[in-house]
Amino acid sequence: MNFLRMENRALAGKRVMIREDFNVPVSDGCVTSDARIKAALPTIRLALDKGAAVLLLSHLGRPVEGRFDAQFSLRPVAARLEELLGLDVALKTDWLNGVDVAAGEVVLCENVRFNRGEKSNDAELARTMAGLCDVFVMDAFGTAHRAHASTEGIVRAALVACAGPLLSRELDTLEKILHDPVRPLLAIVGGSKVSTKLKVLDALLDKVDELIVGGGIANTFIAASGYEVGQSLYEPDQLHDAQRLIQKAHAKGGSIPIPKDVMVAKSFSADAKPLLRGVDEVAQDEMILDIGPLTAIEYSTVIAGSGTVIWNGPVGVFEFRHFAAGTRAVAEAIERSSAFSIAGGGDTLAAIDQYGVKEGISYISTGGGAFLEFVEGKSLPAVVALQDVAGD
Ligand code: ADP
Ligand code: MG
Repeated sequence: MNFLRMENRALAGKRVMIREDFNVPVSDGCVTSDARIKAALPTIRLALDKGAAVLLLSHLGRPVEGRFDAQFSLRPVAARLEELLGLDVALKTDWLNGVDVAAGEVVLCENVRFNRGEKSNDAELARTMAGLCDVFVMDAFGTAHRAHASTEGIVRAALVACAGPLLSRELDTLEKILHDPVRPLLAIVGGSKVSTKLKVLDALLDKVDELIVGGGIANTFIAASGYEVGQSLYEPDQLHDAQRLIQKAHAKGGSIPIPKDVMVAKSFSADAKPLLRGVDEVAQDEMILDIGPLTAIEYSTVIAGSGTVIWNGPVGVFEFRHFAAGTRAVAEAIERSSAFSIAGGGDTLAAIDQYGVKEGISYISTGGGAFLEFVEGKSLPAVVALQDVAGD
């Protein structure tokens, strides 16, 4: 992809504004998961090493635009960032009126979503923000699918706009696996609903050699194949689409396998008793909450034989101890395999953390929604803007 890259720019003495994704969970004024802040550190350090004066932008949560709301303040982020960087990080509230920052310093601007016009991509707001810097760096992959003032408008308004290393690496990696993967290319798409991932499933079927569905999505495919799914989470209104996808896979000479065995329960709860069933043995008062051990072995074998694995979505209710084995087996099979692996999605990342398999996954995408939209083949507005401004 053709866009300017921060790594190649001279930044000495320049005011460099970096759009980060610091949308982290906060509880009682403390950041409870700092993975996104840690992911941003190399970019910030690189800018400082190059002699820049650094301004950081991010959103946090969904505040009402146009006013400050302490609940959505980036103050906890500033505190954590200070610890991680080992540098003072000033949090600036009324930053649209101008910010004093010297080379070697870092200023965090308060939540961009406190500004009216952020989400509607107001051109005036974008110009005001762009006016605060000499170089704008877009490094927030997780928000690149949104055309907001601090992600898209500002790219077009800035004197110079480039991609940060985190964003570039993410785009380069995704491009490579979707356009030139080491085959066979396997995608595992789990999670709760077909309806939220239908477009992704459709787009993936065009590209992959093998597609495994899991979780509530698999339940809909099980029902579409004519089996009883009892009280399982599934979507009757998606049966038609599931059948269409099965036929699409057949037309390509492949298939979308459904689990041979499943773990069921009589209630949706952490202490529900797990029962093993063949896929054709599920009773009307039971719900499928995980794949069974045979299926776990079968999927692990497919993973072991793949050249590239894309993983989004747990294959069971992994939050419940008794129904986590399937997701764990998938995570560990990916960890063991020599395939190039890429994983994305909020719950998928939680599972990866839970099973400690992070080191064995080649690339972990930082953006859930943006990751899925990229896989769907949609263009990401902030990236399109970066390409447009690089072109002239
Ligand atoms: P991600 O955030 O990784 O994209 P999703 O949000 O699509 O994943 O799906 C994750 C959720 O799907 C989890 O909360 C998990 O409990 C749920 N899930 C997985 N399998 C089932 C199932 N068989 N029945 C009900 N919910 C399920
Ligand atoms: Mg989720």
